[in-house]
Amino acid sequence: MKKKFYVTTPIYYPNDKLHLGHVYTTTLADYISKYKKMQGYETMFLTGSDEHGQKILDRALESSMDPLSFVTNIITEFKNLWNKLDINYDIFIRTTDKLHKKYVAESFTNLLNQGFIYKSIYTDLYCKSDEAYFTKTQAPTQLCPDCGKDLEILSEESYFLKIKNFKKWIKDKLENSNILIPKYRIKELINNFVNDLQDLSISRVSFSWGIKINENKAHIIYVWMDALQNYISALSYPESKFTIDEVWNKNSDVELLQLVGKEITRFHCIYWPIILKMKGYREPRILAHGWLVTDSGEKMSKSKKNVIDPIKLIDIYGADALKFYLTNNIVTGEDGKFSQDLLEEMINGLLVNKYSNLVARTDSMIKKSFNGIVPENNISNKNIIKLKNRLDEIKNSYFIDMDNFNFSNSTKKLIKYIEEINGFIDITEPWKEKGDNLSAILNTIVNEIFNITTMLSPLLLNSYKKICFWLNYDEKPNFENLGKDFKGVKLNKIDYLFSRIEKDKNNKFN
Ligand SMILES: [Zn+2]
Repeated sequence: MKKKFYVTTPIYYPNDKLHLGHVYTTTLADYISKYKKMQGYETMFLTGSDEHGQKILDRALESSMDPLSFVTNIITEFKNLWNKLDINYDIFIRTTDKLHKKYVAESFTNLLNQGFIYKSIYTDLYCKSDEAYFTKTQAPTQLCPDCGKDLEILSEESYFLKIKNFKKWIKDKLENSNILIPKYRIKELINNFVNDLQDLSISRVSFSWGIKINENKAHIIYVWMDALQNYISALSYPESKFTIDEVWNKNSDVELLQLVGKEITRFHCIYWPIILKMKGYREPRILAHGWLVTDSGEKMSKSKKNVIDPIKLIDIYGADALKFYLTNNIVTGEDGKFSQDLLEEMINGLLVNKYSNLVARTDSMIKKSFNGIVPENNISNKNIIKLKNRLDEIKNSYFIDMDNFNFSNSTKKLIKYIEEINGFIDITEPWKEKGDNLSAILNTIVNEIFNITTMLSPLLLNSYKKICFWLNYDEKPNFENLGKDFKGVKLNKIDYLFSRIEKDKNNKFN
């Protein structure tokens, strides 16, 4: 039976267009999903939109629209962006979907019947912009610890989830299991949030744009209790490849990865595991990535007016280059810099000089010496054996990085792989060779170009397509195809993989 892999992104909030941070999270999810597929896994990749809440209602009213039409317009743009980036999700869940609403309402009933939910009065500090609550200890100045804005004081009837009962349990889980990658964020999480853990308010009466509680129609289910359960409810959809029980039961062997930005780690690593625990389910596996910052180290955010529209970036640089930059240049788990200059530097220095030129050089050597037909390797050449051993080592350490979700390390290995092939050309100097030696060298290079392009394909899909056209090859990327010999293949015209980006002020938009 096929091994199974389930990967999720957070569901994004459709109050505005998506920005580069969302692209980053989704790119990582797509990367690991495609990688697992190439390993022969059955994969399911879930993304979507978190459509309820006061802020959506306000934005819809501002635009004189009903909230559902308002969000429907915006998620059309979400899907357009994922499409432009070759992101292959399996399900796009909307929290306004009938099946999600049904699941969340039934889940409320179950948890209420089991005694995990009670009714009381909620009074606390609230950040409207982040839709997050803080206790007075967490926000002693009445300013939001996340965004710095003024907090409101709220008081209303609300249902609560008995989170406090699980304080010891969650602390122990965080300290002793693998819920969170990177591990170094756990201490911060415990100090800032677990030590002062309060029951979670999970319903509202002050507005109505949300999922109604069956037991009390005045209440709608509030934000996180609605949003987090999408990771379960989506598995009840007819198009889901996996069932809820298959993924979430305690003995499940479905491998799991849930990607989040570090700002929502506390919801995913404290409340989410507790909700799962109440339901008798397994723990999640969360990877919290860092933030994108500008050249000068500022966080990109709408309020600082330094956000970059990803669609514009894709139009100028292409989806592949953007995805490669985000995966490679941002150390997984840490904050990392993004600017157009840095992106251009990576494209010219790596994708053009090292990768694209390697292919172009090889193409012209084979066309010059062998009429465009890939020659064969039938000798034993010391340099070739050395290269293959070296590449095997790199490949193995690439697999280890990927299996540990160490994405930025994994791409470093792929770059090293390209550099080794280039180094091989420098050492063997094929332009000085002829006969069997030349055949063997060029055969090796072509086959290794195919191998590295296959390994790069989860990020550089268009390069894979171009190389396959060049090699007259027509199969989906799969690790089983590594090592294929292209001897005797008549090369087609090569389409340049990447072109040099010239300095152009007109391309700059921030
Ligand atoms: Zn805030």
